[in-house]
Formats: sequence, C-alpha cells, structure tokens
Amino acid sequence: MLPVSRASHAPHDRELALASRLVASGRTRGEGAPLSDPLVLASTFLHGGERAYARSEGTPTWEALEALVGSLEGGESVAFASGMAAIAALFDELAPGAEVVLPLDVYQGVVELAQAGEAKGRWRVSRVALENTEAWKRAAATAGMVWLEAPSNPLLTVADVRAIAAAERGRDTRLVVDNTLATSLNLRPLELGADASVQSATKFLGGHSDLLAGVVSAKSAALVESLRRTRTRTGATPGALECLLTLRGARTMALRLERAQASAAVLAARLALHPRVERVRYPGLVSHPTHALAREQLGGFGALISFDVRGGAPEADAVCRNVRLVRHATSFGAVESTLERRGALAGQSHLPPSLVRLGVGIEDVEDLWADLERALGESVG
Ligand code: PLP
Repeated sequence: MLPVSRASHAPHDRELALASRLVASGRTRGEGAPLSDPLVLASTFLHGGERAYARSEGTPTWEALEALVGSLEGGESVAFASGMAAIAALFDELAPGAEVVLPLDVYQGVVELAQAGEAKGRWRVSRVALENTEAWKRAAATAGMVWLEAPSNPLLTVADVRAIAAAERGRDTRLVVDNTLATSLNLRPLELGADASVQSATKFLGGHSDLLAGVVSAKSAALVESLRRTRTRTGATPGALECLLTLRGARTMALRLERAQASAAVLAARLALHPRVERVRYPGLVSHPTHALAREQLGGFGALISFDVRGGAPEADAVCRNVRLVRHATSFGAVESTLERRGALAGQSHLPPSLVRLGVGIEDVEDLWADLERALGESVG
C-alpha cells in the first residue's frame, strides 16, 4: 500500500547542514515507509481522508518536494508547474495598480510577464540597475513588489539583498529574490530578510534537463496560503512525476554544484586570458563589478559564466556552433554544460551582441576547457 501520509517536515531537519537536508528532508517517515520517495500520480482520493482532489489538496509527491525545499530555504514552500508559474503566482499577489520594480538585467520571462500585465493596467513596472543599492532602497520603501536576482541572468550582477531587505522591513512592499542561479546553497534570501524566494526547479534543483517545475518559499503563512489558493484556482500545479524527478535530482545538488562551480572558477579564469575573449563576467573574478558583494553574500560564486567573444555576434555564433562537449542549448543548472548567445534572444538589447552565457555542468574540467579553446580557435577568421 502506498503511504499517503504527509511527507516529513521534521523541525530537526533544519538543524542539519544544507547538504544533509538535501538528502534527508522531504521523506515520508514511519515504520515500513519506503525509503525512497514514492510516486503518487492519483488525481483523486477516496473520501474520508485529508485530501479529496490533487489540484486542491496536492499529492504526497508534491508535498515531499515542498518539504525538502522548505527545509532548505528556511520557510514553507509551494510547488508549481514551472518557474514562470511560480513567478506568475507572486505577481498575482499585487494590489491593482501597484508598482513592481525589476532589475535592468533580469530573466527575460519575468520582464515579459510584467510588461504584459502592465499593458492590461494590472500594475506599473519600473526598472533599476542591480548595483544601484540606494535606488533599490528607495523602491523598497514604496513599491508593491521589488524583484531581485543575485546573481542576475545573464550579467551575473549581485544585488545587496541584506541592505535592500533592511530598507523594506516594516513596509508593505514585498521583496522577492529569484534564487534560481544562486540556489539555496549559495544564497539565503529568507535569512537575509526577503519575503519570498522563488526558484525554477527546472535548473539546479532538478539538474538533469528533463523536467519543468518551480517553487516559491516564504515565511508568512498568509502568503503561502494565498499562493496555494492561486495554484488551485489557476491550475498551475506541478506534475507528480516532475516533483519526483526534482526530488531525485535535488538529492545530489550539493555535489553537482560543488563540481560545477569549481570548474566554472577555472574556466572563467582561463577565458579571461584568452585572446579571442573580450570580457568575462563571473562573480568570483576580482574584475567583476559586484565581486566584493558576491564574496560577502554568497556561499559560492555559482556555475554560470558570461563572456563576450571578440569580433561580435557572428564570431560568438561560430563559437556556439563549434562546441562539441558543451551543448548549444538554452538553460543551465544541469549535469550537461550548455551555452548560447543571449543577445540573439528578443528583449535582450541591453546585452553586448557577442555575449555568450555558459552554464557549466559536471563534466571533466579539462575536457570542457579543451572544447571551449578549440571552439574559440575555430571561430577565428
Ligand atoms: N528564473 C530564472 C532566473 C530563469 O533563468 C528561468 C528560466 O530560465 C526562470 C525563472 C523560469 O523558469 P521555468 O523555465 O522553469 O519556467
């Protein structure tokens, strides 16, 4: 018989190191319970128990994921069908006509969502450079919602979450941090004072490029309850299989991230010395504009690197075409290294045309470097 009791959210999980929580949290406990997380696909449950229908009361498999991420982030979590579904639910919290402040450099999907809502008169959007902490502090005192990335996608600029959260404390503004790039291992948004953190579980949590999922975490029970109601109303529910795959991927996230960011540090330093590379952005490089803040605020510098290929967009496109081990694909946070020219995408006019974003995976670092070096060499001419 499949256990349908709620997954453990045992308080003692939170005394463990994050790497241990990744392994131990979100497991159904009790004598005879299966050790690994069961997949419960049911959409409906026999009357008389604690849940009737999956869209409204959830499934044990979603709840296991929520318990794991809640334990990691230090709050309560609500899982969604994708990172964007989770983000849309947070936007849905805004009062009519409220101001939402977005970074100039931010995941483009968030910009599109914000602009579409603004065009319908639902809210107003303004933009602030992530490194302009004073402007963020002012926004944090008045806006309905301020939205931070630390590091940002794809310029990898780190926002001063602690300072901005301090300016927001006691106000009605909601401070949200998109923790997709940093992950719970490198950035602790709720501990720094954010009201909510959101992650595309599609990236590092899942880690294998084989699912879409998103999770919001918050401390306020009222916000968590409201997000759950939005999910039920809109049907932005995660698939049970996707939740199981995310759980399975998350169990190894600490190892994957440790390897990927160690390799990223090596590759960023070598790229910075390569004659075909004009500029490298990696928060771990002292040349990075927000390196000092990254050092202070982040547990690690992450597994993404952005670099400008000398010569312009055609040369950058050639590098993307020429890689063999690194895959020419969008997204990041997976076991596979991927790269793409971000300036080629719509709405990215603030980026240098030759900017390539590299999401470092867990392959051997010397193989990765040999691949990049060869691809850079072949682009000459
Ligand atoms: N946030 C960031 C920083 C992202 O990079 C992405 C996707 O690339 C998302 C949110 C959206 O996540 P999803 O694709 O799971 O909807």
